[in-house]
Amino acid sequence: MFDSRRDAAAFVDRMCAAARAENRAAGERLAAIGELDVLRLRQCGERESWSTDTWDAISAEVAAALGISVALASSLLDYARAMRVRLPQVGAALLAGDISYAMFQTIVYRTTLITDTEAMAAVDAELAGKVRRWPSLTRGRLAAYVDMVVERADRDAVRRRREVHANREFSIWDGGQGLTEVFGRLHTSDAHAVDARLDALAASACDEDPRTGNQRRADAMGALATGADRLACQCRTPHCPAQTAPVPRPVVIHVIAEQASVQGAGNTPGVLVGAAGLISAELVAELATSAKLAPLTPFRDVAPEQGYTPSAKLADFVRCRDLTCRAPGCDRPATQCDLDHTVPYATGGATHASNLKCLSRKHQLPETFWTGTEGWADQQMPDGTVTRLRYPPRLSESPGSRAHFLKLIATGSRRTLE
Ligand SMILES: [Zn+2]
Ligand SMILES: [Zn+2]
Repeated sequence: MFDSRRDAAAFVDRMCAAARAENRAAGERLAAIGELDVLRLRQCGERESWSTDTWDAISAEVAAALGISVALASSLLDYARAMRVRLPQVGAALLAGDISYAMFQTIVYRTTLITDTEAMAAVDAELAGKVRRWPSLTRGRLAAYVDMVVERADRDAVRRRREVHANREFSIWDGGQGLTEVFGRLHTSDAHAVDARLDALAASACDEDPRTGNQRRADAMGALATGADRLACQCRTPHCPAQTAPVPRPVVIHVIAEQASVQGAGNTPGVLVGAAGLISAELVAELATSAKLAPLTPFRDVAPEQGYTPSAKLADFVRCRDLTCRAPGCDRPATQCDLDHTVPYATGGATHASNLKCLSRKHQLPETFWTGTEGWADQQMPDGTVTRLRYPPRLSESPGSRAHFLKLIATGSRRTLE
């Protein structure tokens, strides 16, 4: 007889132990490189001046010892120095096996612009406390969470962001053979609006259209420029269904921000649903001048609703609170998720924010399937936090901020109508 439940638990234990060992080993490798680094710097009498020659020599030594390229060794040396000098506490979490090397890399990358040592130490301490509770974030979501911590601690962030944002551009170079390359650096909100619009135009051709998705998106740029409401289909069939199909609806992008930021009086950045980074408070205020504003009702202290389907306002609130699917490692935007009753409605679960969460289609089936058979049971706290799925508190769950959340809806690349 075999006990599938016991076997599964043993496999999961082995898997987790191996992953922690892998994390610890990655931390240990960086720590050893860091100590070798210190030793060589002392021998060179350079201390922390870090000349290119010393850097190259140490990279070469690491590369030879590990049998890897000098470029890869140089990147390891970079992370080793970050662990030793800038992020010792986050480094300790890696050494303890609590976070993965990939997570550590993302944190190093997102914090490299901090120049103030006090701010750096504060960010290191805060992240070290939080990252252990963020085990299953996708890289994009982790980046946004780290950005938020940096934003709060780094007084210089606003000036630097202005400099970066000043570098917006859109350039076009004619190449050979009738093709032209473009390059752009846009506000994230504009870029996502363009992206969604290109997808919508590309999908307006019928299934018989011979072009690939990428080709249709490229051609949609032309349609966008001429103000066409759909892409001309190339199927050459006499009764192309695309001719009579409704034109794609205007693109809507959702930005969630605190009221003070919306009114231009706050520093807290907003979130663009479906995007990794944050929307700066300045851009939120600018968007707010032309976007449709939808105040978000806090649903924490109200009575449960009657019936299975939540009202539009309650659904809005849950989506803005969750931002993405709540299954571990899934970052499908909340706008593309269904609302799930954690305690099923049929067994008395309330239609209330504290019992509702966003789940993408893909993550509803396994959950239903595993519940009760392998111990995948969710528990949801009154503030919406789901345990068992081990998700971090979402943006809107920070104390006191909930009542002030507003939802901005910007439409199209001109951010006006809805
Ligand atoms: Zn067609
Ligand atoms: Zn999902």
